[in-house]
Amino acid sequence: MTNKPIVVVSRCLGFAICRWNGAAIENRIIEDLGEQVNFITVCPELEIGLGVPREPILIVKKSIGLKLLQPATGADLTAKMISFCHAFLNSVDQVDGFLLKRKSPSCGLNNVPVYAGPNDEHSIDQVPGFFAQAVLKRFPETPVVDEAQLEDSILREKWLQAVFNRAQLRMVQHEL
Ligand code: SF4
Repeated sequence: MTNKPIVVVSRCLGFAICRWNGAAIENRIIEDLGEQVNFITVCPELEIGLGVPREPILIVKKSIGLKLLQPATGADLTAKMISFCHAFLNSVDQVDGFLLKRKSPSCGLNNVPVYAGPNDEHSIDQVPGFFAQAVLKRFPETPVVDEAQLEDSILREKWLQAVFNRAQLRMVQHEL
């Protein structure tokens, strides 16, 4: 068993070029963190079969609930994404923290726009992305942060402290 914290991280945060537009993200803080934690990377949009680059996807509010749609293709990705999130999160029973990409309709922790229709210009609400929603529901006690919050030294220290505390507790429980 590893004595480093286990952190699930959005793969586009410096681990692979998997963003919808093929853009790379470099983040020195996350690079440096790699020496202190064990990262498990995940890209929910690639996992449900989307490619790079890909047409953008967004969240639309319907009477039956939130939908994850790709307006250019007309694809409804909701069921695939929910199914992947459940399967993936059930497969990572030991995790000490999450580090997610902000503003993504999949990974965004908060402030992801919700639209009334797939071709609307203006949003009507803001929510976490689909993967982030599943994380918050499945791991309500686990510290979660996005890369923008990580830039804030106070939020970063708070998150890191919580992550290391959880890892230490996990190790102690394992040795009992
Ligand atoms: S935000 Fe999430 S789904 Fe989007 S590219 Fe990054 S890891 Fe993949």
